[in-house]
Amino acid sequence: MSDSGEFDLIANYFTHRWPSRDDVVLGIGDDAAILTPAENSQLVIATDTMVAGVHFDQQTPARAIGHKIAAVNLSDLAAMGAEPAWLSLALTVPTVDEEWLNGFSHGLREICEYYDCQLIGGDTTKGPLSVTVTAHGFVPADHALRRDQAKPGDWIYVTGTLGDAGLALAAQQQRVQISDAHYRRVLERLYFPTPRVAIGQSLRDIASSAIDVSDGLLADLRHILKASNVGARLAVDELPLSMALTESVNEDQAIQFALTSGDDYELCFTVPESKRGVFDTLMSRHPAKPTCIGRLTNEPHKIRLEHDGEQWQGQLEQHGYEHFRTA
Ligand code: ADP
Ligand code: MG
Repeated sequence: MSDSGEFDLIANYFTHRWPSRDDVVLGIGDDAAILTPAENSQLVIATDTMVAGVHFDQQTPARAIGHKIAAVNLSDLAAMGAEPAWLSLALTVPTVDEEWLNGFSHGLREICEYYDCQLIGGDTTKGPLSVTVTAHGFVPADHALRRDQAKPGDWIYVTGTLGDAGLALAAQQQRVQISDAHYRRVLERLYFPTPRVAIGQSLRDIASSAIDVSDGLLADLRHILKASNVGARLAVDELPLSMALTESVNEDQAIQFALTSGDDYELCFTVPESKRGVFDTLMSRHPAKPTCIGRLTNEPHKIRLEHDGEQWQGQLEQHGYEHFRTA
C-alpha cells in the first residue's frame, strides 16, 4: 500500500473490536496472514468486487456496501456448501472520508460477527471507489456442492423469494411505482442481502448441484444446465414471490422480475428424487424454506417455462445481468 499515514488510519478501522478466531495465527499487521486450516477439510475460496457506478450508486449507504460485499462472498461459499472462516479486503477509496469508513466498516463487521468470520488482512489504495473481498471457508473433503453433478429428473429448488432486489432497483430508477412500505422492504433486500449459509451447508449430502442467484434465476440456472449438460422445466406459477412484489406489479411482471432480475442472493439447487423426502422434512420449518420450482430434463441447455402445466405465454425483456453484453 502507500507510505501515507492516512492509510494506517484506515487499517485501524478494521482491527479494533473485530471478531477473532483461534485458527488465525497471525492476522492484520504483518506482511501476510498465517492461518491453520481445519483438518480433513478442503479450502473453498471466493472473490467478488463491487465498483461505484456499476454495482452501487451514490445514494447507497456505506454500511450497506460493507454488508453486501461480505454477504455476496459468503453467498458464493454457501452455494458451495462451505462454512465461512476468513475474509480479506481490498479497498480503493478516492479520499479518507471518516464517516464513510465508519459506516462501511460497521456493515462489514456486523457480517463478520454474525457468521464468526475474521478479517485477516487486505490492502488499501487511493482511486475510484471500489471494494473487493475474498472469503475463505471449509468443506469436509470432497463434499462441496458444485454445478456439474445435476442429473435429468432432479428437482429444482430455490430458497426465500425472488425478484425483490430487482423490484427495489426498478422502483429506485422510477421504472415502477410502489408503496413506501413495500419500497422499504425490498430496498432492505437490495442493500442487505442474507447469504444462505446454513442452508448451503445442510445441502451438502443432499443437493446434486447448487448456485447462488446473483445475476437472475434463468441466467444462473443456465450455468448449472451447461455444467451438467441437462435442461429444465420451470413452473413459473410456483416461483416464490414476496407480497411486496405481487402487490406492486401484475403477475407477468412479477414472474419476469423473479426470472431475470439479479441481486437476490438466494440459492438455486437440485435434489435427486431419492433425497427429496429427507430434504422436505429437513427444511419444513426453515425461515427461508426452499420452494420446488421445476425439474431437470434430458434436453441439454433448454429451459421450458410453464404456467399451470401449459407453455407460459409471458414475454421476457431481459435475461439477467451481464457486464460485457454488447447488444
Ligand atoms: P504491505 O505494504 O506489506 O502490503 P500494508 O501497509 O498494505 O502492508 O498493510 C498493513 C497491514 O494492514 C497488512 O497486514 C494488511 O493485511 C492490513 N490491511 C491493509 N489494508 C487493509 C484493509 N483495507 N482491510 C484489512 N486489512 C488491511
Ligand atoms: Mg499492501
